[in-house]
Amino acid sequence: MHPLPAAAGEAALAARWGTGLHAPLRLEDGRALKIIFPGIPAGGSGPDYREAIIEIGGDLVRGDVELHLRAESWRAHGHHLDPAYAAVVLHVVAENPGGACATLHATRRSIPILVMPSAPGAVFPPPFTPPCALASARGRDAAPVLERLGLRRLRMKAARAAPLTESKGPGHALYALLLETLGGPANREAFATLARTLPLAALLESAATALPGTPHPFALAAALKGVAASLVLRRAGLRPMASPGRRLEAAGELCASVWPREAQPAWPALLRPGKPLVRLLAAPGIGRGLAVECAVNAVLPAALASGAWTEPEAVAAWRTLPSPGTYGRLRRLEGWLGAGGVAPFAGASRLQGGLLLHADYCAKGACGRCPLSGES
Ligand code: SF4
Repeated sequence: MHPLPAAAGEAALAARWGTGLHAPLRLEDGRALKIIFPGIPAGGSGPDYREAIIEIGGDLVRGDVELHLRAESWRAHGHHLDPAYAAVVLHVVAENPGGACATLHATRRSIPILVMPSAPGAVFPPPFTPPCALASARGRDAAPVLERLGLRRLRMKAARAAPLTESKGPGHALYALLLETLGGPANREAFATLARTLPLAALLESAATALPGTPHPFALAAALKGVAASLVLRRAGLRPMASPGRRLEAAGELCASVWPREAQPAWPALLRPGKPLVRLLAAPGIGRGLAVECAVNAVLPAALASGAWTEPEAVAAWRTLPSPGTYGRLRRLEGWLGAGGVAPFAGASRLQGGLLLHADYCAKGACGRCPLSGES
């Protein structure tokens, strides 16, 4: 059988997009996506759909949508330099083999990527015992695959952090990612807005001008809370420790230990390679699990993206991070891969590999091409 010609494949992709996607969707950068209106098919030159309305992490976004079979076609087709594509707000692809988190335009806009769910109606868990469970029962060790995918996820996170480290510097990028992590799923976008509104340099400056005798963590938290007061924050349904107020206080404590009084808004001297990261990141309001999340989602991606740490240094730290605890959506997978009594997600790196495996294969009903479905 001949492969589908690219034009026909893209037309099929565009037709599917046009019917509207109703399942919960997740962008390659991890944010939730909802399609409100897929847009008007444009035809001719320029983006495939015009005037779409989508919701990204709770924010309504309007603009154009471009579709490709593979993510790298954006550059190959020269769209990154074409002003006609400057209003694209979403890049929809069938495959993203390079694992990019965003597509860039020459205007320096970062366009989120959606990998179209490949199998309509795909369900997880599958209605059969999946090959990974059978292989695990026969003694196959999933660790090498999970480690490899985990490392890929670190590089994806670093790629996402790179535009920020380049434009604002490694210190601010680290601060912004720490705030996003502390915001948690409920307030990630709001805390990202907070970091944009109150950059690290302004935060440190504000704390430096606090009344004499004000404890540094308190001054930082007060500055953060002052700006956050104008943001829409979600409070309902959160544990007290995860409430925005407590998380902002925790952010004040963490920033105070990472950037003590008179520190420059640069990469902190405290966070050097070889140091016990989780211990350094633990602070009042930040337990071990959240400290691991800060290392996974902020410190190591920013360190790698900015060159503050070399790749071997970042990878070595990544591999030794403990697991913050298995996420609910991975429980089934944990049972299947742990058939021999092993703990498949024993460390943060393998857990991150599990998340990527779940997103790229399990949730797409792709057992047939999954790296854990074979014998080796
Ligand atoms: S996609 Fe792979 S890991 Fe996921 S259920 Fe199927 S065989 Fe298991």
